[in-house]
Amino acid sequence: MRAAVGIGSNVGDAPATVRRAFERLAVVGTVVARSRLYRTPPWGLVDQAPFVNAAALVDTALDPRALLGALKRIELEEGRIAAVRWGPRVLDLDILTYGDVRLDDPDLTIPHARLRERAFALVPLAEIDPSFAGLRDALPPGERAAVVELGPQ
Ligand code: ADP
Ligand code: MG
Repeated sequence: MRAAVGIGSNVGDAPATVRRAFERLAVVGTVVARSRLYRTPPWGLVDQAPFVNAAALVDTALDPRALLGALKRIELEEGRIAAVRWGPRVLDLDILTYGDVRLDDPDLTIPHARLRERAFALVPLAEIDPSFAGLRDALPPGERAAVVELGPQ
């Protein structure tokens, strides 16, 4: 199944962490697309560093729960510690979509519950999956404009 994974980091060398996350996603399947990296304002708790966000498309044989488990292991390997919800994190990996599957469980909601309102997820996702261009374009212009491409590093 093809899954879209959202990647975020705002602690340490965030661009390097996001690039490593793309590599580590090989443990869940074949990475078929990678977005560019974007710098985005903090969301939720605003008194923290800006995030670097990206998205990847992965062809995976794992079911959604196994995929979530594998993503959480990658977060831990990158040094994420249990922390405040929406607070700073070394690495956040979210399942944005999983084929056409819909799940409505607090532990795993697919498509991601806040995808429609999160410019930092929709802008990278629409870059690699044009079927999300409509949702991206429906974002408030100021929110979309706040997600800016990182220059080449
Ligand atoms: P957030 O990503 O919302 O900022 P966390 O990364 O701390 O916050 O996630 C909290 C919990 O959200 C996870 O432990 C996970 O069980 C749950 N969750 C629900 N739906 C998803 C999803 N689609 N992708 C990743 N985690 C999810
Ligand atoms: Mg998460």
